[in-house]
Amino acid sequence: MTTSCPSCAWPAAEPAYPVSVHGRVSYVRCVCGLWLVLDAGRVVATAGGPGSAKVPSP
Ligand SMILES: [Zn+2]
Repeated sequence: MTTSCPSCAWPAAEPAYPVSVHGRVSYVRCVCGLWLVLDAGRVVATAGGPGSAKVPSP
């Protein structure tokens, strides 16, 4: 049972970014830029990738 980010091990139960909740499924943006999909607090899927939150340099 995973409750932390598979990329950086940040605890998904303590999201650093606002959570979008739909029923028992919630979407969390991890501090590393990865999107985590949580089902009842458990990480079931990810989207994007580490570093996707970075601002592109000119
Ligand atoms: Zn992460």
